Parts: sequence; structure tokens; C-alpha cells
Amino acid sequence: MSQTTVYTIACPRCGSRQPVELCESINVRENPALREDLMANRLNIVVCAGCGHRFRVDKPLLYHDPERRFMIYLYPAPEEQAAEAERLFRGMIERLAGRSLPTPAPAMHLVLNRVELVERIFLLEAGLDERIIEYVKHSVYTKNSNRLDPVRKRLLFNAQDSTDEHLFFVVQDVETRQLEAVIQYNRAAYRALCETFDDDVQTARLLELFPGPYISARRLLLEPPAPRSHDSPSAPDLSEI
Ligand SMILES: [Zn+2]
Repeated sequence: MSQTTVYTIACPRCGSRQPVELCESINVRENPALREDLMANRLNIVVCAGCGHRFRVDKPLLYHDPERRFMIYLYPAPEEQAAEAERLFRGMIERLAGRSLPTPAPAMHLVLNRVELVERIFLLEAGLDERIIEYVKHSVYTKNSNRLDPVRKRLLFNAQDSTDEHLFFVVQDVETRQLEAVIQYNRAAYRALCETFDDDVQTARLLELFPGPYISARRLLLEPPAPRSHDSPSAPDLSEI
């Protein structure tokens, strides 16, 4: 079910308060037009009745694709609040599980902004694995560390422009949000990674790197997990694969 709720929102320009109907959940099977609104950045856009200023209201949003059996929870927050978002996400899943989650249960994803939500929708619709895509981003960051600082640059997967030969990633400046460069990654290398990770030991390594629910190469680079007390030979080594 797609849901909306009416909120009183103050215009960021003139301060005028007005009732606004905001979308809080999208079911793409029941309401595919809302997916298009989301992708075109038309969802939860308000035009102020007082001054005509146009702005977007960022609210938590649950995106559900029943055909492909995934749900993505958008909790708008800066990346530093990822741990708090994960706590809320787990609480939401417990509440959902107490009601009527479809069976088999959909895969649950957590993202922190609209750009990540759109990226994840396209990625899942293309049948790709979010952990392996973040793994690829991690290796792109580490191989280009002199010009791709994860603090200042975000890598976004671009499913629409990707081809049978190449996966495309876009470099976005975190502060200005400008898109600055395109990076190609050989799809054959992605397929090879999928094969590599297709066994229990390697899957465990991938899960260790990206335990989730918030899965992000930047987070792994900016908040590396605490070192272990001893160096195990099976410790994940990103340069190995
Ligand atoms: Zn206004």
C-alpha cells in the first residue's frame, strides 16, 4: 500500500506554514507513477503557497517492489548518523515482522538519502548485488587514492548507462553534489567477483566487510572496523581478489 500523511511544513524561504501531503511509502506494483515521481525528483516537492518557492521535504520513506521482493527504507540522515539509522531500521523491521510481511520475506535495504535510494533501486532492478557493487567501489577508491578521496568524493553506481561490457560509476563531490567524472569497470571483472564470492567462506568475508544493514564502501573507508586482537590469515584483504 502506498501511503501519504499530511504535515504542517514551514517554507525555508518565507517561513509560511502550510499543510502538505507527503508520501511515506511506495508500493510500485500498486502505484508505479510514484516510482517515476521518485526517480524524476518530483516526490514530496512542495511549492510554497506564500512565496512560490519550490523545495523538497525529506522524510523517511519505505519503497516496496513486491515483484522483485525487495524493500528499501530511506532514512534521511548524514552518513555520520548511519549507526542511529541502523538502530531505527532494525526497530522498523521488528514492527513490520509483527504485522504482515509477505512470504517469502522481501530483502530489506537501508539507505540514507534519495540519491542512494535511486541508485539502489536501479541496482536491484538490474539484478546486481549491492555488496559486490560496494566492494567494486572500495577497490576503485583504493586504486585511485591519490585523486579519489572518500571524504570528499562519493562514487555512485549508474545502472542506466551501464552496458554488457562495462559498469559505470559517477564521481560526485560530496559538498557541491556536482558530478565530476565517469569511471568504467569491466563487467567481466564484476562477474568474476560474483563467482569468487559464490562460496560460503567468501560470502562470509563479504558479509564481514559489509555487515549491513547500511552497506557502503565509503563508510568502510571512513570508519574502518576495529582491528582484531590477532591477525587471522582469513582476515579480509581487499587487494587479494
Ligand atoms: Zn515561502
